[in-house]
Amino acid sequence: MDIAEFQGHIRNLATLPRTEAPVISCYLRVQDGHLRHRRLFDKRIEELKRCVAGKTAERFERALVPIERFLSAEVHGSSKGAAVFSREGHQPYFLALQFAVPLPTWVTADMLPNIYHLVELKDKYWRFILLVCSRDEIRMLSVNLGKVTLELLRQRPELRRRVGREWTKEHYRAHRAARTRRFVDDAVNALSEVMSAGGYDHLILAGDRSMTALVRRALPPRTAARLAGIIRNPGMTEACDVVSRSIEAFIEAEEKESCDAAGMLEERLLGGGLAVAGTRASHFALRRGRVQTLVMSTDYAPRPGWLCVSCRVERTAEGRPKRCRACGSRSLVDLEVREAMLRLAEQRGIQVELVRDSAALRRIGDVGCLLQQHPGSRGTTRRNRAVTER
Ligand SMILES: [Zn+2]
Repeated sequence: MDIAEFQGHIRNLATLPRTEAPVISCYLRVQDGHLRHRRLFDKRIEELKRCVAGKTAERFERALVPIERFLSAEVHGSSKGAAVFSREGHQPYFLALQFAVPLPTWVTADMLPNIYHLVELKDKYWRFILLVCSRDEIRMLSVNLGKVTLELLRQRPELRRRVGREWTKEHYRAHRAARTRRFVDDAVNALSEVMSAGGYDHLILAGDRSMTALVRRALPPRTAARLAGIIRNPGMTEACDVVSRSIEAFIEAEEKESCDAAGMLEERLLGGGLAVAGTRASHFALRRGRVQTLVMSTDYAPRPGWLCVSCRVERTAEGRPKRCRACGSRSLVDLEVREAMLRLAEQRGIQVELVRDSAALRRIGDVGCLLQQHPGSRGTTRRNRAVTER
């Protein structure tokens, strides 16, 4: 599954219309083609069954059937995580996604799909290019949600030893340096092409110290701006070792970007410009579509708001009243506020940064939005990325 397809699935889930039937959302850890924590899953399903009655209970049972079918026969041996969404009734819905990265075991039933863990996966395991360099070989790997693909392999052509015959040592050295430059330039050109064609935002360099330094110097500015980390470990050649370390480096860079977004949010709030904080203001800004980035703490757990089924009004900052304050209808349901905000963000293609352990974000209520600048002066939160070297 490529990133456009993955984003398409999230957007479809975020725009799925509500019906009278519940959606079962399952996030699951799988291994060797099977569910890893079967007992935990069964226990959670039993708990959910106890919460539904009558027609809803029947629909719930029917929605379970395709989930069990998927789990018994369709999980790939190489998958580590699966996300499954199922609904029965007049507008049935079923979607099963599999990933090369694990997901927590987490099951819920609500009137709309729960997308938090997919958004988190998109934020955390985005995608990057890993360039592994040794003196004689440059390998380019793409890592997409944990899936690794070899994009390019360049080997340095053999250099004939002609010292002592027609060449002096100096001549040989100069010749070797020129060949190394050509070898690096050629790989860097291919790298830039793959990164812009595939829309990759992050690059991680790994391998031999002097070669990574040469490659870094040869990067054109556009590619250099996307450098997220360097792993220096001469002699390290095992692909899986480099990949797992590069994923760590990437996650670290990504977490730093999320923290930067939280820092920028605080800065803008103090400066009184282009930012809002707190549940109510963020929800309002998201509905108005003025948001550039939604910044949310991973601890964000607001109290439920309410939604009017008749007029679609959503309120986040108060408990459910007897009648809708907008139209007077009594058809009100609880609103899962965090999900409502993520849905709005995904429907509008707004960037979401999930931030772990940020005191700055905690002070302002665990959620906030960077607002769009006026047309013509759009900035970006991703410039001037600091590069971690290991
Ligand atoms: Zn209403």
